[in-house]
Amino acid sequence: MNIEREQLEMDVVFVGAGPANLAAALHLKQKIAEHDEFVEKGIKQGRKIGELEIGIVEKGSFVGAHILSGAVMDPIAIRELMPDFLEQGCPVDSAVTQDAFWYLTESRGIDAPIIPPPLKNKGKYIVSLSKICEWLAEKCEEAGINIFPEFPAAEIIYDENDRVVGVRTGDKGIDKEGHPKGNFEPGVDLLAKVTVLGEGSRGSLAKHLMQRLNLMEDKEPQVFSLGVKELWEVPAGNFEEGKVVHTLGFPSDTDTYGGGWIYGMKNNVISIGYVTGLDYKDPNIDPHLEFQKFKTHPKVAQVLAGGKMLKYGAKTINTSGYWTMPKLYADGVLIVGDSGSFLNGQRIKGIHTAMKSGMLAAETIIGAFEREDFTSKTLKHFEEKVNMSWIYDELHPVRNFHASFQSGRWSALINSGLQFMTGGLAWGFMPKEHHIAGHERMEKLSAHENNGTRYENVKFDKELTFDKITNVFHAGVAHNEDQPSHLHVLDTEICATRCAEEYGNPCQRFCPAAVYEMEFNSKTDRKELKVNFSNCVHCKTCDIADPYQIINWVTPEGGGGPNYKGM
Ligand code: SF4
Repeated sequence: MNIEREQLEMDVVFVGAGPANLAAALHLKQKIAEHDEFVEKGIKQGRKIGELEIGIVEKGSFVGAHILSGAVMDPIAIRELMPDFLEQGCPVDSAVTQDAFWYLTESRGIDAPIIPPPLKNKGKYIVSLSKICEWLAEKCEEAGINIFPEFPAAEIIYDENDRVVGVRTGDKGIDKEGHPKGNFEPGVDLLAKVTVLGEGSRGSLAKHLMQRLNLMEDKEPQVFSLGVKELWEVPAGNFEEGKVVHTLGFPSDTDTYGGGWIYGMKNNVISIGYVTGLDYKDPNIDPHLEFQKFKTHPKVAQVLAGGKMLKYGAKTINTSGYWTMPKLYADGVLIVGDSGSFLNGQRIKGIHTAMKSGMLAAETIIGAFEREDFTSKTLKHFEEKVNMSWIYDELHPVRNFHASFQSGRWSALINSGLQFMTGGLAWGFMPKEHHIAGHERMEKLSAHENNGTRYENVKFDKELTFDKITNVFHAGVAHNEDQPSHLHVLDTEICATRCAEEYGNPCQRFCPAAVYEMEFNSKTDRKELKVNFSNCVHCKTCDIADPYQIINWVTPEGGGGPNYKGM
Protein backbone atom coordinates (compact mmCIF):
# COMPACT_ATOMS: atom_id res chain seq x y z
CA MET A 1 0.00 0.00 0.00
CA ASN A 2 1.47 3.35 -1.03
CA ILE A 3 0.63 5.70 1.81
CA GLU A 4 1.27 9.40 1.96
CA ARG A 5 2.38 10.26 5.47
CA GLU A 6 2.56 13.49 7.34
CA GLN A 7 6.03 14.38 8.57
CA LEU A 8 6.53 16.27 11.80
CA GLU A 9 9.95 17.69 12.53
CA MET A 10 10.93 17.72 16.19
CA ASP A 11 14.23 18.09 18.00
CA VAL A 12 13.94 15.21 20.43
CA VAL A 13 11.43 12.35 20.40
CA PHE A 14 11.03 10.08 23.41
CA VAL A 15 9.44 6.69 22.79
CA GLY A 16 7.40 5.52 25.80
CA ALA A 17 6.05 7.61 28.67
CA GLY A 18 7.59 5.65 31.52
CA PRO A 19 9.71 6.95 34.42
CA ALA A 20 12.95 7.07 32.39
CA ASN A 21 11.63 9.17 29.53
CA LEU A 22 9.39 11.43 31.60
CA ALA A 23 12.32 12.25 33.89
CA ALA A 24 14.54 12.70 30.83
CA ALA A 25 12.19 15.12 29.07
CA LEU A 26 11.61 17.21 32.20
CA HIS A 27 15.31 17.30 33.06
CA LEU A 28 16.11 18.30 29.49
CA LYS A 29 13.72 21.27 29.68
CA GLN A 30 15.06 22.34 33.08
CA LYS A 31 18.71 21.98 32.15
CA ILE A 32 18.37 23.83 28.84
CA ALA A 33 16.79 26.78 30.66
CA GLU A 34 19.64 26.69 33.20
CA HIS A 35 22.29 26.32 30.49
CA ASP A 36 20.93 29.25 28.47
CA GLU A 37 20.69 31.47 31.55
CA PHE A 38 24.29 30.66 32.54
CA VAL A 39 25.52 31.35 29.01
CA GLU A 40 23.63 34.65 28.93
CA LYS A 41 25.09 35.72 32.25
CA GLY A 42 28.57 34.68 31.17
CA ILE A 43 28.78 32.04 33.95
CA LYS A 44 29.19 29.33 31.34
CA GLN A 45 30.90 29.38 28.00
CA GLY A 46 29.24 28.10 24.86
CA ARG A 47 26.16 28.97 22.90
CA LYS A 48 22.54 29.18 23.88
CA ILE A 49 20.31 26.28 22.80
CA GLY A 50 16.90 27.96 22.94
CA GLU A 51 13.49 26.31 22.79
CA LEU A 52 13.54 22.72 21.60
CA GLU A 53 10.54 20.89 20.19
CA ILE A 54 10.26 17.84 22.46
CA GLY A 55 7.68 15.08 22.04
CA ILE A 56 6.85 11.89 23.93
CA VAL A 57 4.87 9.18 22.14
CA GLU A 58 2.99 6.64 24.24
CA LYS A 59 1.06 3.57 23.07
CA GLY A 60 -1.38 3.55 26.00
CA SER A 61 -4.65 5.48 25.96
CA PHE A 62 -3.22 7.78 28.68
CA VAL A 63 0.11 8.09 30.44
CA GLY A 64 0.19 5.38 33.10
CA ALA A 65 -2.24 3.02 31.31
CA HIS A 66 0.55 0.53 30.57
CA ILE A 67 2.74 1.22 33.59
CA LEU A 68 2.97 -1.57 36.15
CA SER A 69 5.42 -2.10 38.96
CA GLY A 70 5.38 -3.38 42.60
CA ALA A 71 6.42 -0.78 43.68
CA VAL A 72 8.76 0.57 46.33
CA MET A 73 10.53 3.64 44.96
CA ASP A 74 13.94 4.77 46.11
CA PRO A 75 13.51 8.57 45.94
CA ILE A 76 17.18 9.30 45.14
CA ALA A 77 16.53 10.11 41.49
CA ILE A 78 13.24 11.96 41.80
CA ARG A 79 14.83 14.07 44.55
CA GLU A 80 17.62 15.03 42.14
CA LEU A 81 15.06 15.84 39.47
CA MET A 82 12.80 17.81 41.76
CA PRO A 83 14.11 18.31 45.32
CA ASP A 84 10.63 19.40 46.50
CA PHE A 85 8.78 16.55 44.79
CA LEU A 86 6.61 15.93 47.85
CA GLU A 87 5.70 19.60 48.26
CA GLN A 88 4.86 19.68 44.54
CA GLY A 89 2.30 16.94 45.13
CA CYS A 90 4.08 13.80 43.90
CA PRO A 91 1.45 11.12 44.64
CA VAL A 92 3.54 8.66 46.69
CA ASP A 93 1.25 6.33 48.60
CA SER A 94 2.97 5.55 51.92
CA ALA A 95 6.40 5.89 53.47
CA VAL A 96 7.91 2.51 54.34
CA THR A 97 7.80 2.02 58.11
CA GLN A 98 8.77 -1.64 58.50
CA ASP A 99 10.51 -4.35 56.51
CA ALA A 100 10.12 -8.10 56.77
CA PHE A 101 11.64 -11.03 54.95
CA TRP A 102 9.77 -14.33 54.98
CA TYR A 103 11.25 -17.65 54.00
CA LEU A 104 8.35 -19.89 52.97
CA THR A 105 8.36 -23.67 53.06
CA GLU A 106 5.27 -25.64 51.88
CA SER A 107 3.44 -25.11 55.16
CA ARG A 108 5.50 -22.73 57.27
CA GLY A 109 6.66 -19.16 57.05
CA ILE A 110 9.81 -18.10 58.84
CA ASP A 111 10.14 -14.43 59.66
CA ALA A 112 13.85 -13.74 59.15
CA PRO A 113 15.38 -12.04 62.21
CA ILE A 114 17.70 -10.06 59.93
CA ILE A 115 16.57 -8.27 56.78
CA PRO A 116 19.05 -8.73 53.91
CA PRO A 117 20.54 -5.22 53.48
CA PRO A 118 19.46 -4.84 49.82
CA LEU A 119 15.86 -5.35 50.94
CA LYS A 120 15.86 -2.68 53.64
CA ASN A 121 13.38 -0.06 52.51
CA LYS A 122 12.90 2.42 55.33
CA GLY A 123 13.11 5.92 53.85
CA LYS A 124 11.64 4.71 50.56
CA TYR A 125 8.06 5.05 49.33
CA ILE A 126 5.39 2.56 48.36
CA VAL A 127 3.93 3.94 45.15
CA SER A 128 1.63 3.25 42.27
CA LEU A 129 4.08 3.81 39.40
CA SER A 130 1.15 4.41 37.09
CA LYS A 131 0.08 7.38 39.27
CA ILE A 132 3.64 8.70 39.50
CA CYS A 133 3.93 8.63 35.70
CA GLU A 134 0.58 10.38 35.25
CA TRP A 135 1.77 13.10 37.59
CA LEU A 136 5.18 13.41 35.91
CA ALA A 137 3.39 13.73 32.56
CA GLU A 138 1.40 16.69 33.95
CA LYS A 139 4.69 18.29 35.00
CA CYS A 140 6.09 17.71 31.52
CA GLU A 141 3.06 19.29 29.88
CA GLU A 142 3.27 22.29 32.20
CA ALA A 143 6.88 22.65 31.03
CA GLY A 144 5.78 22.72 27.37
CA ILE A 145 6.58 19.14 26.38
CA ASN A 146 4.19 17.54 23.88
CA ILE A 147 2.80 14.18 24.95
CA PHE A 148 0.98 12.00 22.42
CA PRO A 149 -0.94 9.13 24.04
CA GLU A 150 -2.43 6.48 21.74
CA PHE A 151 0.53 6.93 19.40
CA PRO A 152 2.62 3.75 19.43
CA ALA A 153 6.00 4.07 17.78
CA ALA A 154 5.77 1.18 15.35
CA GLU A 155 9.05 1.53 13.44
CA ILE A 156 12.39 3.27 13.64
CA ILE A 157 13.21 5.48 10.66
CA TYR A 158 16.83 5.16 9.50
CA ASP A 159 18.60 7.22 6.88
CA GLU A 160 20.76 5.73 4.14
CA ASN A 161 23.71 5.47 6.55
CA ASP A 162 21.71 3.58 9.22
CA ARG A 163 21.46 6.69 11.36
CA VAL A 164 18.26 6.90 13.38
CA VAL A 165 16.28 9.93 12.24
CA GLY A 166 12.97 9.38 14.03
CA VAL A 167 10.07 6.99 14.39
CA ARG A 168 6.92 6.15 12.46
CA THR A 169 3.76 5.85 14.55
CA GLY A 170 1.33 3.01 13.92
CA ASP A 171 -1.47 3.23 11.38
CA LYS A 172 -5.02 3.34 12.74
CA GLY A 173 -8.12 1.78 11.19
CA ILE A 174 -6.70 -1.36 9.53
CA ASP A 175 -8.98 -4.42 9.53
CA LYS A 176 -8.10 -8.01 10.45
CA GLU A 177 -7.09 -8.77 6.88
CA GLY A 178 -4.78 -5.76 6.72
CA HIS A 179 -7.09 -3.54 4.63
CA PRO A 180 -7.82 0.10 5.45
CA LYS A 181 -11.25 0.75 7.01
CA GLY A 182 -13.37 3.89 6.69
CA ASN A 183 -11.65 5.45 9.69
CA PHE A 184 -8.13 4.75 8.37
CA GLU A 185 -5.48 7.20 9.58
CA PRO A 186 -1.90 6.65 8.46
CA GLY A 187 0.84 6.85 11.05
CA VAL A 188 2.97 9.96 11.18
CA ASP A 189 6.73 10.19 10.61
CA LEU A 190 8.18 11.99 13.62
CA LEU A 191 11.61 13.15 12.57
CA ALA A 192 14.07 14.06 15.31
CA LYS A 193 17.72 14.90 15.79
CA VAL A 194 17.77 12.52 18.76
CA THR A 195 15.38 9.64 19.46
CA VAL A 196 15.34 8.18 22.97
CA LEU A 197 14.00 4.64 23.42
CA GLY A 198 12.52 4.14 26.88
CA GLU A 199 9.91 1.52 26.08
CA GLY A 200 10.48 -0.54 29.23
CA SER A 201 11.39 -4.20 29.40
CA ARG A 202 11.92 -5.83 25.96
CA GLY A 203 11.03 -2.70 24.04
CA SER A 204 10.00 -3.70 20.53
CA LEU A 205 11.97 -0.90 18.84
CA ALA A 206 14.95 -1.33 21.17
CA LYS A 207 15.03 -5.05 20.27
CA HIS A 208 15.01 -4.16 16.58
CA LEU A 209 17.71 -1.53 17.01
CA MET A 210 19.97 -3.86 19.00
CA GLN A 211 19.69 -6.51 16.27
CA ARG A 212 20.13 -4.16 13.33
CA LEU A 213 23.08 -2.23 14.77
CA ASN A 214 24.53 -5.17 16.70
CA LEU A 215 24.38 -3.32 20.02
CA MET A 216 24.64 -6.55 22.08
CA GLU A 217 28.02 -7.47 20.56
CA ASP A 218 30.38 -8.56 23.37
CA LYS A 219 27.55 -8.26 25.90
CA GLU A 220 25.79 -11.02 27.78
CA PRO A 221 22.16 -11.74 26.85
CA GLN A 222 19.46 -9.91 28.74
CA VAL A 223 17.56 -12.14 31.16
CA PHE A 224 14.02 -11.27 32.20
CA SER A 225 11.49 -12.13 34.89
CA LEU A 226 7.72 -11.85 34.89
CA GLY A 227 5.98 -10.05 37.75
CA VAL A 228 2.31 -10.93 38.26
CA LYS A 229 0.46 -8.58 40.57
CA GLU A 230 -2.93 -7.97 42.18
CA LEU A 231 -4.22 -5.07 44.23
CA TRP A 232 -6.42 -6.16 47.13
CA GLU A 233 -8.55 -4.41 49.69
CA VAL A 234 -8.25 -6.30 52.98
CA PRO A 235 -10.00 -5.94 56.35
CA ALA A 236 -8.42 -3.36 58.69
CA GLY A 237 -5.77 -5.00 60.83
CA ASN A 238 -4.75 -7.68 58.30
CA PHE A 239 -1.66 -5.79 57.11
CA GLU A 240 -0.19 -2.48 58.20
CA GLU A 241 0.18 0.53 55.91
CA GLY A 242 3.87 1.13 55.23
CA LYS A 243 4.88 -2.50 55.79
CA VAL A 244 6.99 -4.16 53.11
CA VAL A 245 7.39 -7.93 52.94
CA HIS A 246 9.59 -9.84 50.52
CA THR A 247 9.53 -13.62 50.36
CA LEU A 248 11.73 -16.44 49.14
CA GLY A 249 10.94 -20.13 48.81
CA PHE A 250 7.43 -21.49 48.18
CA PRO A 251 6.23 -22.05 45.53
CA SER A 252 9.44 -21.74 43.44
CA ASP A 253 11.73 -24.75 43.22
CA THR A 254 15.40 -24.20 43.99
CA ASP A 255 16.29 -24.17 40.26
CA THR A 256 13.92 -21.31 39.52
CA TYR A 257 14.48 -17.65 40.33
CA GLY A 258 11.41 -16.33 42.10
CA GLY A 259 10.02 -14.46 45.08
CA GLY A 260 6.96 -12.65 46.34
CA TRP A 261 6.07 -9.27 47.73
CA ILE A 262 3.34 -7.72 49.86
CA TYR A 263 3.24 -3.94 50.32
CA GLY A 264 0.78 -2.17 52.66
CA MET A 265 -0.79 0.91 51.08
CA LYS A 266 -3.32 3.49 52.27
CA ASN A 267 -6.97 2.59 52.99
CA ASN A 268 -6.24 -1.10 53.63
CA VAL A 269 -5.16 -1.68 50.05
CA ILE A 270 -2.23 -4.02 49.51
CA SER A 271 -0.06 -4.69 46.51
CA ILE A 272 0.75 -8.39 46.30
CA GLY A 273 2.69 -10.14 43.59
CA TYR A 274 5.14 -12.80 42.55
CA VAL A 275 8.16 -12.65 40.28
CA THR A 276 9.24 -15.71 38.30
CA GLY A 277 12.52 -15.72 36.37
CA LEU A 278 11.88 -16.35 32.68
CA ASP A 279 15.02 -18.47 32.66
CA TYR A 280 13.28 -21.44 34.28
CA LYS A 281 14.11 -24.95 33.08
CA ASP A 282 10.80 -26.72 33.56
CA PRO A 283 8.39 -26.00 30.66
CA ASN A 284 5.47 -26.89 32.96
CA ILE A 285 5.98 -23.64 34.87
CA ASP A 286 3.20 -21.10 34.64
CA PRO A 287 4.15 -17.77 36.30
CA HIS A 288 0.48 -16.82 36.77
CA LEU A 289 -0.11 -20.08 38.61
CA GLU A 290 3.07 -19.65 40.65
CA PHE A 291 1.48 -16.43 41.91
CA GLN A 292 -1.90 -18.05 42.56
CA LYS A 293 -0.13 -20.84 44.48
CA PHE A 294 1.88 -18.28 46.45
CA LYS A 295 -1.41 -16.80 47.73
CA THR A 296 -2.49 -20.20 49.09
CA HIS A 297 0.45 -20.35 51.49
CA PRO A 298 -1.05 -20.10 55.02
CA LYS A 299 1.06 -17.07 55.97
CA VAL A 300 0.05 -15.21 52.80
CA ALA A 301 -3.59 -16.38 52.73
CA GLN A 302 -3.97 -15.00 56.26
CA VAL A 303 -3.12 -11.51 54.96
CA LEU A 304 -5.78 -11.78 52.24
CA ALA A 305 -8.51 -13.42 54.39
CA GLY A 306 -11.82 -11.56 54.09
CA GLY A 307 -10.40 -9.29 51.39
CA LYS A 308 -11.29 -8.60 47.79
CA MET A 309 -9.13 -8.53 44.67
CA LEU A 310 -9.45 -5.17 42.93
CA LYS A 311 -7.06 -5.20 39.98
CA TYR A 312 -4.64 -7.42 38.12
CA GLY A 313 -1.59 -6.91 35.95
CA ALA A 314 1.53 -8.62 34.64
CA LYS A 315 4.74 -7.21 33.25
CA THR A 316 8.26 -8.41 32.60
CA ILE A 317 11.27 -6.81 34.20
CA ASN A 318 14.80 -6.93 32.95
CA THR A 319 16.62 -8.55 35.89
CA SER A 320 20.10 -9.23 34.57
CA GLY A 321 21.75 -5.83 35.05
CA TYR A 322 25.19 -4.50 34.30
CA TRP A 323 26.75 -7.22 32.11
CA THR A 324 23.70 -7.24 29.88
CA MET A 325 23.46 -3.54 29.12
CA PRO A 326 23.51 -3.04 25.36
CA LYS A 327 25.68 -0.36 23.81
CA LEU A 328 23.41 2.48 24.92
CA TYR A 329 23.87 4.79 21.93
CA ALA A 330 24.18 4.91 18.18
CA ASP A 331 23.91 7.73 15.67
CA GLY A 332 20.78 9.70 16.56
CA VAL A 333 19.56 7.39 19.32
CA LEU A 334 19.90 6.55 23.02
CA ILE A 335 18.45 3.67 25.06
CA VAL A 336 17.30 4.33 28.65
CA GLY A 337 15.55 2.57 31.53
CA ASP A 338 14.54 -1.08 31.55
CA SER A 339 15.15 -1.37 27.80
CA GLY A 340 18.82 -0.79 28.62
CA SER A 341 19.07 -3.23 31.61
CA PHE A 342 19.19 -0.50 34.24
CA LEU A 343 17.24 -2.44 36.90
CA ASN A 344 19.00 -3.60 40.07
CA GLY A 345 17.91 -7.25 40.31
CA GLN A 346 19.23 -7.69 43.82
CA ARG A 347 17.16 -4.82 45.23
CA ILE A 348 14.29 -5.57 42.78
CA LYS A 349 14.27 -1.86 42.03
CA GLY A 350 14.54 -0.03 38.77
CA ILE A 351 12.45 3.14 38.99
CA HIS A 352 15.30 5.21 40.43
CA THR A 353 17.92 3.87 37.99
CA ALA A 354 15.51 4.31 35.07
CA MET A 355 14.89 7.94 36.01
CA LYS A 356 18.58 8.62 36.53
CA SER A 357 19.43 7.03 33.16
CA GLY A 358 16.90 9.38 31.56
CA MET A 359 18.41 12.40 33.31
CA LEU A 360 21.91 11.46 32.14
CA ALA A 361 20.55 11.00 28.62
CA ALA A 362 19.09 14.53 28.84
CA GLU A 363 22.48 15.94 29.86
CA THR A 364 24.09 14.12 26.93
CA ILE A 365 21.49 15.57 24.56
CA ILE A 366 22.27 19.10 25.75
CA GLY A 367 25.92 18.49 24.85
CA ALA A 368 24.80 17.26 21.42
CA PHE A 369 22.77 20.42 20.76
CA GLU A 370 25.63 22.60 21.96
CA ARG A 371 27.96 20.96 19.46
CA GLU A 372 25.22 20.41 16.88
CA ASP A 373 26.47 16.87 16.56
CA PHE A 374 23.97 14.05 16.99
CA THR A 375 26.23 11.21 16.00
CA SER A 376 27.77 8.52 18.19
CA LYS A 377 30.79 10.76 18.63
CA THR A 378 28.79 12.95 21.00
CA LEU A 379 26.08 10.54 22.13
CA LYS A 380 28.69 8.06 23.42
CA HIS A 381 29.12 10.43 26.36
CA PHE A 382 25.89 8.95 27.69
CA GLU A 383 27.66 5.69 28.51
CA GLU A 384 30.54 7.58 30.12
CA LYS A 385 28.10 9.56 32.26
CA VAL A 386 26.36 6.33 33.34
CA ASN A 387 29.69 4.79 34.32
CA MET A 388 30.67 7.86 36.32
CA SER A 389 27.34 8.10 38.17
CA TRP A 390 25.84 6.32 41.17
CA ILE A 391 24.17 3.94 38.70
CA TYR A 392 27.56 2.29 38.17
CA ASP A 393 28.30 2.29 41.92
CA GLU A 394 25.00 0.52 42.48
CA LEU A 395 24.88 -1.90 39.56
CA HIS A 396 28.50 -2.94 39.15
CA PRO A 397 28.91 -4.63 42.56
CA VAL A 398 25.77 -6.72 41.92
CA ARG A 399 26.65 -7.51 38.30
CA ASN A 400 26.67 -11.27 38.92
CA PHE A 401 23.55 -11.47 41.05
CA HIS A 402 21.16 -12.89 38.49
CA ALA A 403 23.75 -15.09 36.80
CA SER A 404 24.47 -16.73 40.15
CA PHE A 405 20.78 -17.70 40.42
CA GLN A 406 21.26 -19.65 37.23
CA SER A 407 23.34 -22.04 39.37
CA GLY A 408 20.42 -22.51 41.77
CA ARG A 409 19.01 -20.75 44.84
CA TRP A 410 21.55 -21.92 47.42
CA SER A 411 24.63 -20.97 45.44
CA ALA A 412 22.98 -17.63 44.70
CA LEU A 413 22.48 -16.96 48.40
CA ILE A 414 26.09 -17.85 49.18
CA ASN A 415 27.20 -15.64 46.30
CA SER A 416 25.11 -12.75 47.53
CA GLY A 417 26.68 -13.06 50.98
CA LEU A 418 30.19 -13.14 49.50
CA GLN A 419 29.39 -10.20 47.25
CA PHE A 420 28.00 -8.21 50.15
CA MET A 421 30.98 -8.89 52.42
CA THR A 422 33.53 -8.04 49.74
CA GLY A 423 31.76 -5.11 48.11
CA GLY A 424 31.26 -7.08 44.92
CA LEU A 425 34.82 -8.34 44.56
CA ALA A 426 34.29 -12.02 45.35
CA TRP A 427 31.91 -14.44 43.69
CA GLY A 428 31.83 -18.24 43.57
CA PHE A 429 29.55 -20.88 42.03
CA MET A 430 28.99 -18.95 38.82
CA PRO A 431 27.73 -20.73 35.69
CA LYS A 432 30.69 -20.66 33.33
CA GLU A 433 28.74 -18.89 30.59
CA HIS A 434 27.56 -16.25 33.09
CA HIS A 435 24.11 -15.07 31.95
CA ILE A 436 22.30 -17.49 29.67
CA ALA A 437 19.25 -16.28 27.74
CA GLY A 438 16.07 -17.60 29.35
CA HIS A 439 14.72 -19.37 26.25
CA GLU A 440 17.99 -21.31 25.95
CA ARG A 441 17.64 -22.68 29.48
CA MET A 442 14.19 -24.17 28.99
CA GLU A 443 14.47 -27.97 28.98
CA LYS A 444 12.34 -30.46 27.08
CA LEU A 445 9.14 -31.72 28.64
CA SER A 446 10.56 -35.25 28.77
CA ALA A 447 13.01 -34.12 31.46
CA HIS A 448 10.15 -32.86 33.64
CA GLU A 449 7.35 -35.35 33.07
CA ASN A 450 6.70 -35.79 36.75
CA ASN A 451 5.99 -32.13 37.27
CA GLY A 452 2.67 -32.12 35.40
CA THR A 453 0.96 -32.07 38.80
CA ARG A 454 2.71 -28.91 39.94
CA TYR A 455 -0.53 -26.89 40.21
CA GLU A 456 -3.09 -29.58 40.95
CA ASN A 457 -4.01 -27.97 44.27
CA VAL A 458 -4.77 -24.56 42.79
CA LYS A 459 -8.56 -24.59 42.43
CA PHE A 460 -9.57 -21.06 41.28
CA ASP A 461 -12.13 -20.46 44.00
CA LYS A 462 -12.54 -16.85 42.72
CA GLU A 463 -12.05 -15.60 46.26
CA LEU A 464 -8.36 -16.23 46.84
CA THR A 465 -7.27 -17.66 43.51
CA PHE A 466 -8.33 -16.66 40.01
CA ASP A 467 -8.06 -18.11 36.54
CA LYS A 468 -6.38 -16.06 33.81
CA ILE A 469 -9.60 -14.93 32.13
CA THR A 470 -10.99 -13.52 35.40
CA ASN A 471 -7.69 -11.81 36.03
CA VAL A 472 -7.56 -10.34 32.52
CA PHE A 473 -10.98 -8.80 33.14
CA HIS A 474 -9.46 -7.07 36.19
CA ALA A 475 -6.64 -5.68 34.04
CA GLY A 476 -9.18 -3.62 32.07
CA VAL A 477 -7.75 -4.90 28.78
CA ALA A 478 -9.30 -3.64 25.56
CA HIS A 479 -8.17 -3.98 21.95
CA ASN A 480 -10.24 -3.33 18.85
CA GLU A 481 -10.78 -6.91 17.61
CA ASP A 482 -10.97 -5.89 13.95
CA GLN A 483 -7.24 -5.28 13.49
CA PRO A 484 -4.35 -7.57 12.57
CA SER A 485 -2.92 -9.50 15.52
CA HIS A 486 0.07 -7.73 17.04
CA LEU A 487 1.55 -11.13 17.97
CA HIS A 488 3.43 -12.33 14.93
CA VAL A 489 4.03 -16.06 15.15
CA LEU A 490 6.51 -16.64 12.38
CA ASP A 491 5.93 -20.37 11.84
CA THR A 492 2.76 -21.91 13.29
CA GLU A 493 3.74 -25.30 11.86
CA ILE A 494 6.41 -25.50 14.56
CA CYS A 495 3.70 -24.92 17.19
CA ALA A 496 1.59 -27.83 15.94
CA THR A 497 4.50 -30.24 15.59
CA ARG A 498 7.91 -29.76 17.22
CA CYS A 499 6.85 -27.48 20.03
CA ALA A 500 3.84 -29.64 20.94
CA GLU A 501 6.11 -32.68 21.22
CA GLU A 502 9.20 -31.13 22.73
CA TYR A 503 7.84 -28.52 25.14
CA GLY A 504 4.07 -29.12 25.25
CA ASN A 505 3.42 -25.60 23.87
CA PRO A 506 4.63 -23.60 26.87
CA CYS A 507 3.13 -20.36 25.47
CA GLN A 508 -0.18 -21.58 26.93
CA ARG A 509 1.47 -21.47 30.35
CA PHE A 510 3.95 -18.60 30.28
CA CYS A 511 1.44 -16.08 28.92
CA PRO A 512 -0.34 -14.62 31.98
CA ALA A 513 -3.38 -13.56 29.94
CA ALA A 514 -4.58 -16.75 28.18
CA VAL A 515 -3.67 -15.38 24.77
CA TYR A 516 -2.29 -18.65 23.39
CA GLU A 517 -4.48 -21.75 23.06
CA MET A 518 -3.92 -25.03 21.22
CA GLU A 519 -7.28 -25.84 19.62
CA PHE A 520 -8.29 -29.04 17.85
CA ASN A 521 -8.75 -28.60 14.09
CA SER A 522 -10.91 -31.39 12.66
CA LYS A 523 -9.68 -30.69 9.11
CA THR A 524 -6.04 -31.33 9.93
CA ASP A 525 -6.83 -33.71 12.79
CA ARG A 526 -4.42 -32.03 15.17
CA LYS A 527 -4.22 -29.19 17.64
CA GLU A 528 -3.22 -25.83 16.19
CA LEU A 529 -2.37 -22.47 17.64
CA LYS A 530 -5.11 -19.93 18.29
CA VAL A 531 -4.03 -16.44 19.32
CA ASN A 532 -6.56 -14.47 21.40
CA PHE A 533 -4.60 -11.25 20.93
CA SER A 534 -7.29 -9.04 22.45
CA ASN A 535 -6.45 -10.46 25.93
CA CYS A 536 -2.84 -9.28 25.72
CA VAL A 537 -1.58 -7.23 28.67
CA HIS A 538 1.62 -6.24 26.79
CA CYS A 539 3.92 -8.01 29.26
CA LYS A 540 6.27 -9.23 26.43
CA THR A 541 6.80 -12.65 28.02
CA CYS A 542 6.04 -14.52 24.77
CA ASP A 543 8.59 -12.49 22.82
CA ILE A 544 11.18 -13.43 25.47
CA ALA A 545 10.40 -16.97 26.61
CA ASP A 546 9.40 -18.82 23.45
CA PRO A 547 12.03 -21.57 23.07
CA TYR A 548 12.09 -21.24 19.25
CA GLN A 549 12.07 -17.41 19.30
CA ILE A 550 9.34 -17.29 16.68
CA ILE A 551 7.01 -14.90 18.48
CA ASN A 552 7.47 -11.27 17.65
CA TRP A 553 5.49 -8.73 19.69
CA VAL A 554 4.74 -5.56 17.72
CA THR A 555 2.64 -2.56 18.70
CA PRO A 556 -1.13 -2.92 18.21
CA GLU A 557 -3.36 -0.01 17.24
CA GLY A 558 -2.81 2.94 19.59
CA GLY A 559 -4.75 2.99 22.84
CA GLY A 560 -5.24 -0.80 22.97
CA GLY A 561 -3.99 -2.81 25.93
CA PRO A 562 -4.43 -2.88 29.68
CA ASN A 563 -5.68 -0.09 31.90
CA TYR A 564 -3.37 0.03 34.92
CA LYS A 565 -4.68 3.29 36.34
CA GLY A 566 -3.70 3.41 40.00
CA MET A 567 -1.86 0.06 39.85
FE1 SF4 B 1 2.29 -11.12 27.51
FE2 SF4 B 1 2.65 -12.16 25.08
FE3 SF4 B 1 0.62 -12.97 26.60
FE4 SF4 B 1 0.64 -10.51 25.51
S1 SF4 B 1 0.56 -12.43 24.44
S2 SF4 B 1 0.07 -11.05 27.61
S3 SF4 B 1 2.80 -10.00 25.63
S4 SF4 B 1 2.77 -13.25 27.00
